[in-house]
Amino acid sequence: MNARDLRHPASHQTIERFEILDTQPEPAFDELAQQAALELQTSMAAISFFDPPDDPALPWREWFKAKSRFPARTLSRGESFFVPALPDGGEPARLFIIPDLLADRRFRDHRLVSGPPHLCCYAAAAIITQDNELIGALAVFDTVARDFTPAQQTRLVALADLVRERLEARLHTRIERRSAQSDYSDFTEPPEQHLQQMGAELERIERLLEDEVVSRKSAELQLRHEREFAEAAIQILPGAFFMIDVHGKLLRWNPLFAAGTGYSDADISELRALDFIAAPDREAVAEALRRLFETGEPVNREAGMVNKAGTAFPYHIHAQRVSLGGKHYCIGIGRDIAEQKHREREARRAKERLDLALAGSRLAIWDWDLRSNTIHFSEGWRTLLDSRPTSEPGNVFPGDQVMAWTHPDDIERFASVLRAAVKGDVEDMQCEYRVPGNTGGWVWMHSSGRVTEFDAATGRTLRMTGTTANITLRKAAEERVEFLATRDPLTKLPNRMLLNDRLEQAVANAARKQTRLAFMFIDLDRFKTINDSLGHDVGDELLKMVAARLSACVRSSDSVARLGGDEFAVLLENLPETATEIDHESAQHVADKMIAALAAPILINGQHLNTSCSIGISVYPGDGRDPATLMKHADVAMYDAKSKGRNNYQFFSQEMNARAQERLSIESFLRLALRRDEFELHYQPRVSFLTGQISGVEALLRWRHPRRGLLTPDKFIHIAEDSGQIVPIGEWVFEQAFRQIAEWRAKSARDLRLAVNLSAPQLYDGERLLRAIGSALAAANLDPTVVELELTERMLLKHVDETLRLLERLGKLGLGLAIDDFGSGYSSLSYLRQLPVDTIKVDTAFVRTIGDAPVQHPGDEAMIRAIVAMTHSLKLNVVAEGIETEAQYRLLRDLGCDEYQGWFFAKALPAAEFEAEFLDTQ
Ligand code: C2E
Ligand code: MG
Ligand code: MG
Repeated sequence: MNARDLRHPASHQTIERFEILDTQPEPAFDELAQQAALELQTSMAAISFFDPPDDPALPWREWFKAKSRFPARTLSRGESFFVPALPDGGEPARLFIIPDLLADRRFRDHRLVSGPPHLCCYAAAAIITQDNELIGALAVFDTVARDFTPAQQTRLVALADLVRERLEARLHTRIERRSAQSDYSDFTEPPEQHLQQMGAELERIERLLEDEVVSRKSAELQLRHEREFAEAAIQILPGAFFMIDVHGKLLRWNPLFAAGTGYSDADISELRALDFIAAPDREAVAEALRRLFETGEPVNREAGMVNKAGTAFPYHIHAQRVSLGGKHYCIGIGRDIAEQKHREREARRAKERLDLALAGSRLAIWDWDLRSNTIHFSEGWRTLLDSRPTSEPGNVFPGDQVMAWTHPDDIERFASVLRAAVKGDVEDMQCEYRVPGNTGGWVWMHSSGRVTEFDAATGRTLRMTGTTANITLRKAAEERVEFLATRDPLTKLPNRMLLNDRLEQAVANAARKQTRLAFMFIDLDRFKTINDSLGHDVGDELLKMVAARLSACVRSSDSVARLGGDEFAVLLENLPETATEIDHESAQHVADKMIAALAAPILINGQHLNTSCSIGISVYPGDGRDPATLMKHADVAMYDAKSKGRNNYQFFSQEMNARAQERLSIESFLRLALRRDEFELHYQPRVSFLTGQISGVEALLRWRHPRRGLLTPDKFIHIAEDSGQIVPIGEWVFEQAFRQIAEWRAKSARDLRLAVNLSAPQLYDGERLLRAIGSALAAANLDPTVVELELTERMLLKHVDETLRLLERLGKLGLGLAIDDFGSGYSSLSYLRQLPVDTIKVDTAFVRTIGDAPVQHPGDEAMIRAIVAMTHSLKLNVVAEGIETEAQYRLLRDLGCDEYQGWFFAKALPAAEFEAEFLDTQ
């Protein structure tokens, strides 16, 4: 066809001749419209014819014969999408494409563009008659803007040609039918029945025609039409069509063949089939063609096709032998599979990458089809996961079997996590659980997944997909970290943090189940001594042994923890219900066992070490309903046990609590007492039995507490000792007492001596003690021999060597030394001999039970007698303390004591009173 001769649009007569306007839809045309929509991948298509009326008064119209989802039946000239392609006087386009109607001023406001169905794209091929007249268009429409590939454009034109073929075939059939009818009309009296039969026959023929087979009486016409059909079919084949003879010469091809190879039709006619085959495949293809021609074996293979530029593309070639006029030919179709190959390669690479990633991350993929309840695992899942959940080979297993691999302790949790995900309660499923490992034992798995398919109608989950990883190492590390964080590294017992957790948990459980629990604080007695004297290694060993012994005293459900240093704690849960006494009994039972367990010496490095502990116990709920209170009260009870002489246990009591409270309050006030100048010294005279004269004074500490008034040392001195406060307080005593005695000595010209009490902590830092005494003496300008330091026996028993050296240095300064409260400890004669002691002060306990005392203790008198004899044999001075009555006075005088102190003579008095009463300053 030559566009130059094209007439457009055809006249009204031309279009009328086809008898197509205003007819019913016909499958032959509908099919073509659908085909166009399918091949050009558009949502709509239509076949229309242009109707220019003879009478200029009548409107021009575009009438739609076939529509695939296209809504309009007719369009006016102004509305026609194709009319702009028909320029006055110019050449009409064979193809007319508007990729974006909204971007085109001519169509932007078209009712089908701005309104439903909101067309956005238009492509049409002109329908042109044999006589080169443009009569209509095959058009596709879409609601999105888009382009069409050259192949699609070619096909649209080919389909438009096919419309023309069908139109002409239809016309011919009609003419034939009419002439047949007119033949019959020549019969004078056509029998009615005959006519009916003929009509049915003709309708059948028409139907046949509409089904693409033109049934013709005229062989010539049929031949022509068939050739045209074939030609059109070849044109629209979705591949490169070729027909070759036995010499490989190309006889026929379609536009896609030319487009694919890049050669012009003239070039192609010059070339041989094998010229289009890439060199590596040429020989194989030649062989295949040879067999095709010889045996009729069809060719069905992939081969590289080279284009004019020399580039090879992968093609799939399907060819078969046909015989025409006694000769063999080969017809075939080649499809460009570059895109498909590319996709395949991409898919393969993606899979390789995925496999690599899975292997690297040691992840397995699973895919659970809930309809069949089967689970598909990715390749190599057993190796990747180091697991061996089953001996059966394969990657697909029933869901129930997979669940059964799970550790019995994890299965319920795992199942409920899966149920929640399947029900859609959670979007992402996550679970950690155990399965059998490759090398025995259990390995930890972490699976995560999500629903990947569900039935939109019922909402049922159909498929879940996810990954599984072996997290055994991570779990082990976590457990190790947790162990380290919650254990005491030395004894491996739970540490304070874990104990707190457990106690909290235990209290919650006890509250819920209405049970009772006991909490114990255990403190080793004198552990510091062992640690300091035998070294930390021995101390550590001892702690380990103690930990083991304590742990052996409780049930496995109870907890023994080490809180640090020599402090342990025990949590006893689920104590028997009912009466509190029973609770106490079982806690008591454990405490008894623990005390007994530590009673046996512990052998470390060949040494037998003796240790003991003090235990404080609180019971839930009586002694506290929360962890903090229970711990505080067990602590109070523990201090009480310590103060009761160690190696015992105490249950918490409210009275104990009150004492502890008081202690606490005293401790906090004591810290400020020195600064607030709340201490004062009272002085008690020491009197000579021989002369009845005051030979000296003992300075006794008093604290004027801002709230409680004047306190004697028994209320606070042990607290000051425990907290170490006694050291600065003692230094204050030295300064105060030394100054006082120096002043009195100067005033009264009497040879007054001074006794000052010392506490054990003051001996720990001997240098500091020496310095303090030295500077106090200097400040008061006092002769050291005037002063006597009083120490108790107990103080002398500790750190014997060091203490001895310190006392010797003090003695060298000229200070006297007295053993206070003698008889209450265990001092032996030989031991006393080693010490630079001057005076022994008999413990008031002996004095209190002799003479006219209400409670008599006959042995005490003998005891005092023995002490006096021994002391005198050592040439030491004996002082009796606490003499309240004349009877005691006489008795002790007669027993041979040298001096005495006591209320019988005078109480300890404030300095001013003492001065007024006893020092004649005149
Ligand atoms: P201590 O050194 O044995 O002092 C004798 C205690 O017996 C004093 O109690 C004294 O008041 C009391 N006393 C004296 N005569 C009688 C009596 O006839 N009957 C009775 N029932 N008691 C009598 P105080 O003053 O309460 O001191 C108690 C303890 O406190 C002292 O016992 C001493 O160990 C310690 N202490 C006192 N002052 C100091 C001090 O400045 N430093 C240190 N480290 N300890 C001190
Ligand atoms: Mg004393
Ligand atoms: Mg005493």
